[in-house]
Amino acid sequence: MPPRSPMPDTISLARDRAEASLLGLALGDAMGMPSQTLSMAEIAARHGWIADLVAPAPDHPVSRGLVAGQVTDDTEQSLLLARRLIAGNGQIAPMDWADDLLGWEADVRARGLHDLLGPSTKAALAALLAGADPATSGQGGTTNGAAMRILPVAIATPPEPLSRLIDAVEAACRITHNTGEAIAGAAAVAAVASAGLEGADFQTTLPLALAAARAGEARGTPTGACDIAGRIAAALELAGRGVTLSELAQATGTLVATHQSVPAAFGVLSLAGGEVTRATELAANIGGDTDTIGAISGGMGGATTGCTALPEARIARLRAVNQLDLAPLVEGLIRLRLKGAT
Ligand SMILES: [Mg+2]
Repeated sequence: MPPRSPMPDTISLARDRAEASLLGLALGDAMGMPSQTLSMAEIAARHGWIADLVAPAPDHPVSRGLVAGQVTDDTEQSLLLARRLIAGNGQIAPMDWADDLLGWEADVRARGLHDLLGPSTKAALAALLAGADPATSGQGGTTNGAAMRILPVAIATPPEPLSRLIDAVEAACRITHNTGEAIAGAAAVAAVASAGLEGADFQTTLPLALAAARAGEARGTPTGACDIAGRIAAALELAGRGVTLSELAQATGTLVATHQSVPAAFGVLSLAGGEVTRATELAANIGGDTDTIGAISGGMGGATTGCTALPEARIARLRAVNQLDLAPLVEGLIRLRLKGAT
């Protein structure tokens, strides 16, 4: 009897981990939604310890009006990029992507919500509308919007050769986050997730993530903080020593800058031993850009563990509240991945 081809198993593993990565992203986003922009002390005063999907305070500066379990820009823009990649057969036409993001913000306003485009994306799109070249519109973008929505690129692109993955990350960053800092952060996240789809666990992906950050930092304009790889490595080293969440937060910072929130996300997932439920809970309580730190750590955690490792009841609620229909997007992105792998 001929040996059975390993291909179907490989594809079903990638498909499962792709779905888990998007669900982990959504979970971390929704867990951190009520606490985003608050300090760790304010979160403790308002919520005690966030250990489930909870509603924001009615006076929350950006999350007011959202209900418990509702996702924000991190998930919505990731799914937007997934649809753009699929429609473009793996390519991102700059003006189409700009139209997608502007259309998304108009829709958020129409829904009466307040969590709009982040600082880098907003500035870049304003420049594009004023006639700037897409090659230069993103040259000031150093915040974490690139890393927060990079998962579809990681699903659609194999981890090797790394240069091709970095090319795909750079293309996704071009119009809004065309800087070494932002591309480095997004590349590190993408490397973890893409290697996870091949079956790697979080720890195993880390050398590739650091290599990706170093390679990514050489792309785009040399703007923003440097040595994102070193900052991620430092966060991982602290987590490995078993520091408290507060000590991690103080060391990395937790604000919207890539050089703070991306290392914080790596540190949180490491503190959680690579486990999504714990990582997204830690992120929701860390303070600062909690929803994006949760989205990034949850996305990387899902990609490196798979759907069976996710908290079932919480995921069911998340799917119901947000009407998440991920299967067609997962299929489309995996098709692109297989095309790229040949
Ligand atoms: Mg958000």
